[in-house]
Amino acid sequence: YRIFNANRKVIYVHDRGIIIRDQNGRAIRMVGAMTNITDQKELSLQLNKLNSSLKKYTIELEQSNYELEQFAFVASHDLQEPLRMISSFMDMLQKRYGNLLDEKGHQYIYFAMNGAKRMQQIILDLLEYAKISKEQNANEKVDINLLLADYSLLRKKLIAEKKAELIITHLPEIETNKAAITQIIHCLIDNALKYSAKNRAPIVEFSVTENKEEWLFSIIDNGIGIDEQFYTKIFTIFQRLHNRVDYGGTGIGLSIVKKQVEYLGGRVWLESKIDVGSKFYFTIPKN
Ligand code: ADP
Repeated sequence: YRIFNANRKVIYVHDRGIIIRDQNGRAIRMVGAMTNITDQKELSLQLNKLNSSLKKYTIELEQSNYELEQFAFVASHDLQEPLRMISSFMDMLQKRYGNLLDEKGHQYIYFAMNGAKRMQQIILDLLEYAKISKEQNANEKVDINLLLADYSLLRKKLIAEKKAELIITHLPEIETNKAAITQIIHCLIDNALKYSAKNRAPIVEFSVTENKEEWLFSIIDNGIGIDEQFYTKIFTIFQRLHNRVDYGGTGIGLSIVKKQVEYLGGRVWLESKIDVGSKFYFTIPKN
């Protein structure tokens, strides 16, 4: 309970006492001790306050995250239509009036078409990013060997062109979300092949280690490498370290990887050395 102390300040006390009775059971004395618990009480009040503001903040964050996803989703859909218009009218311009245009005119059409195509790719990637949500399909048994075999088949032409070597050891079957893990692995190996060094064929080593509570995936390449100062930046949406001419791309791949890995309850990180190669790691919890 609370009492006023000698300075008329309210303090919280904890009071304990024993009643001493006479032979007839009548209370005659009381012995006890009073502890000043004002500090603990004030701390716990502060903690409660902090907790409720944290809860409020979390709700606000979830709400704004949801709104952002909705916005990206709607914008991605709505932006497709005008882009299609640009492409098809540029196409018509070229077909109908192409003979009236000089080289510069054709070049302008090419730039406009190219811009529209890139914009379309950005929108598609953004849509992919926005679609990732906790309400993904349920978990199922996924054989990572099969997943890698599908990948090799899908990228057969690219792998042959680049004379790339994919080193894959025996991989486990794990319980997870198939679409998510496929997207993560495809993106990381795609990057390992894309950011290869000019003077050597890409060698990509893919392996999975079983730890007590999680699966640890690693994708190791011998490519151009990444400077340590960009380790965080590359996982941010639209952040790229290269221009379009050297390496094409929209800068969304790794942000999709990060979002998917985190939705699956894991972590993603990397170690890299310029001109030597990069090692990307991610984990998937076993449960
Ligand atoms: P994109 O490949 O479309 O640019 P990402 O989000 O997949 O987008 O990658 C972001 C940036 O990270 C890339 O532009 C590239 O500079 C760098 N990067 C990603 N993977 C690798 C890799 N394996 N080796 C070197 N650089 C990489």
